Amino acid sequence: MTDAGGTLPAIAFVGLGAMGAPMAQNLLRAGFAVTVHNRTRHREEPLVEAGASRASSPAEAARDAEICITIVSDVPDVEEVICGPEGVLNGLRAGRLVVDMSTIGPKAARAVQHSCAQSNVRFIDAPVSGGPSGAQDASLAIMAGGAEADFQEALSALRAMGKTVALMGPVGAGQAAKLVNQVIGAGTFCAVAEGLMLARKLGLDETQTMDVIAGGAAGSWMVERLAPKMIGHDFEGGFKIELQAKDLRLVIENADELGLPMPLTRMIRQFLAAAAAEGHAQHGTQSVISVWERLSAS
Ligand code: NAP
Repeated sequence: MTDAGGTLPAIAFVGLGAMGAPMAQNLLRAGFAVTVHNRTRHREEPLVEAGASRASSPAEAARDAEICITIVSDVPDVEEVICGPEGVLNGLRAGRLVVDMSTIGPKAARAVQHSCAQSNVRFIDAPVSGGPSGAQDASLAIMAGGAEADFQEALSALRAMGKTVALMGPVGAGQAAKLVNQVIGAGTFCAVAEGLMLARKLGLDETQTMDVIAGGAAGSWMVERLAPKMIGHDFEGGFKIELQAKDLRLVIENADELGLPMPLTRMIRQFLAAAAAEGHAQHGTQSVISVWERLSAS
């Protein structure tokens, strides 16, 4: 895996959360020179032990990088780490490439691209799907938006982190595809929660029911990965309720501009708000089962 010149590009990696930390580990494993930065600095330590350099700010991390990858929480956070006073654009040299892998929606991605262009820096959006487990085993689906040449330049790094890597169109198109992914994903895990409650009340063995369903037409990643966690009330890890709510907020913001009703997404937002109100904002989306348990209590 090399770029056109035969050498791997030097990477700056900003944001070592549930997704970013294992993604950066995979870049190191693939042989990239990686300089990491995380706001909570101690999260850099395992990466340094694995061979990364560390930097005191996003700007500092980006100084000698050819490609700068960011993956943080929400729109203001991406703006801060890329465009802020200590942001990537204050370190990265002109002509270099920023790859933002956070989920922020197409409009925000285009706004960040505009800021990058003012610093003569290129930008692609490349949000991901597959959760922390997909980040760990480098099997993420990566949906990119940007110029073909910029995508090709980032491809060796993207392939070190994901299995399905696709250029969807110009900047923002990766984010657009990710919003579609979030609508389908959230609809599916809510359906799994509702189905599980029905299985429980009908007196079925929940695990056996999910196992057989996994082999049929209703089988899915959500059935295989989240149903066991819902059954076992294992709410730690996974994709935080708070972040899923943020993604559906982005869906509605974009859909409203298009005049799209999105009735299912609006309903799911209520379930996520209820789960957050029950104290699950920082828990994985599997904790949404608690809403069905409360609604079904008799
Ligand atoms: P996370 O575990 O909550 O980590 C968030 C990361 O962003 C942390 O490194 C955090 O730094 C950093 N951050 C947040 N705000 C910041 C700010 N203002 N300045 C600097 N750093 C900031 O989140 P995650 O699960 O890794 O998700 C990251 C992105 O990937 C999100 O956009 C999410 O929607 C998307 N995503 C997540 C999943 C998933 O299953 N988890 C799947 C696909 C996509 P600190 O350590 O200092 O808090």
